[in-house]
Amino acid sequence: MLTNMQARDVETLVHPYTNLEAIRSTGPLILERGQGVWLHDSDGKAYLEGMAGLWCTALGYGNEELVEAASEQMRKLPFTHIFGGKSHDPAIELAEKLKEMAPVPISKVFFTCSGSEANDTQMKLVWYMNNALGRPRKKKIISRMRAYHGVTIASASLTGLAGNHNDFDLPIAGVRHTTAPHYYRLAEPGESEEDFATRLAADLEALILAEGPETVAAFIAEPVMGAGGVIVPPKTYFPKIEAVLKKYDVFFIGDEVICGFGRLGTPFGCQALDMKPNAISVAKALSSAYQPIGAVMIPEEMYQAMLEESRKLGSFGHGFTYSGHPVAAAVALKTLEIYERESIFERVRAKIPQFAARCAALEDHPLVGEARQAGLVAGIEIVADKKTRHQFDPKLGFAAKVVAFAQDEGLIVRSVFGDAVTICPPLVISPAEIDELFDRLTRALDRTLDWAT
Ligand code: PLP
Repeated sequence: MLTNMQARDVETLVHPYTNLEAIRSTGPLILERGQGVWLHDSDGKAYLEGMAGLWCTALGYGNEELVEAASEQMRKLPFTHIFGGKSHDPAIELAEKLKEMAPVPISKVFFTCSGSEANDTQMKLVWYMNNALGRPRKKKIISRMRAYHGVTIASASLTGLAGNHNDFDLPIAGVRHTTAPHYYRLAEPGESEEDFATRLAADLEALILAEGPETVAAFIAEPVMGAGGVIVPPKTYFPKIEAVLKKYDVFFIGDEVICGFGRLGTPFGCQALDMKPNAISVAKALSSAYQPIGAVMIPEEMYQAMLEESRKLGSFGHGFTYSGHPVAAAVALKTLEIYERESIFERVRAKIPQFAARCAALEDHPLVGEARQAGLVAGIEIVADKKTRHQFDPKLGFAAKVVAFAQDEGLIVRSVFGDAVTICPPLVISPAEIDELFDRLTRALDRTLDWAT
């Protein structure tokens, strides 16, 4: 029986990433308030936030400094755009700060409202750049299977998940997907991680050659794949991939929308994985999700090409009304200040061994095939048979069942593609709360096992 609020919800709202039929009878979980890593629903029940919202509320809930930064900026100047030569302090300062923090040489910053828009913009900028450089055929973008880069028409095309393509008539032309660096599922018997990485670089090279290198413009990758099941690449993967990209003059876009700002214990995920992209997309933890904001970090070579096009065409014809929104920029600036002042990334590094150990221990559970972890993010793959790695029929929705039992235990986690349960707590989670998270998840796994047998 739905509550009044739930009934009103299902009669009015379309929920993203939701079975629209099922929710009509179950209704949504209505959350009311949050503090630290805890959320409370409309009945007052408390939940440990094990997913930082959607991999984004890095500083947890109820951060008064962020609230204050937003209200101060709202009072002063709630909005002005940065089109046609206008600007404002928060956008300028935030762009400077991002340039200073950048893990690779960055010349300029372009603001968006989301990660999807950032990756969409990346794709447009690559096309724009190659037109400026006089190579109009070099336009294809290579992504990877299991990648998640967003849901706009272009970024959903880059996403390598069937659920984002089926019946949306995607991907669009000119997007290709190469093999995911998923050692547990895709390594051949006896193949070392090093050999697996070598094979994946060869796969990429074969794809570029098959397409014609003169038609391949860019490659996009998350340091650690998030929504694809938290896939952590083998150590030598990115250097090997980058050698191929260099050989064929293929631009490298790093999607740091999840890994950026401390998730792996380093300011950017690429620093933890020996990855050197040319351009970078960020969003989510940029503002700890207190405001919607993303950014494209642009290298000098790309900026020079943009200048050239702007000279030729009279204007750089791209931008969102809310690009560099002053309130979002002020909150992001405050977020970056807090990361630095409170040594959040160093503190993440100190918490990783405990998080990793609790995660690894889950592999003893009869339902867990692999517990993949990097920094403070993990993917727990559910299997029917640990030896053969055989999975349950996806229709049975085992990972979703674990998530439902976890919710009952007062823990919020997510199920994603590949029957995996993902964990990505706010970076400010305490050691005691990490233990609480894994205790609750273990109980949810036990209850799933009881349910199945
Ligand atoms: N890129 C990555 C790696 C993501 O995880 C996401 C969202 O989860 C996106 C891009 C898209 O970001 P948004 O949902 O803000 O459009």
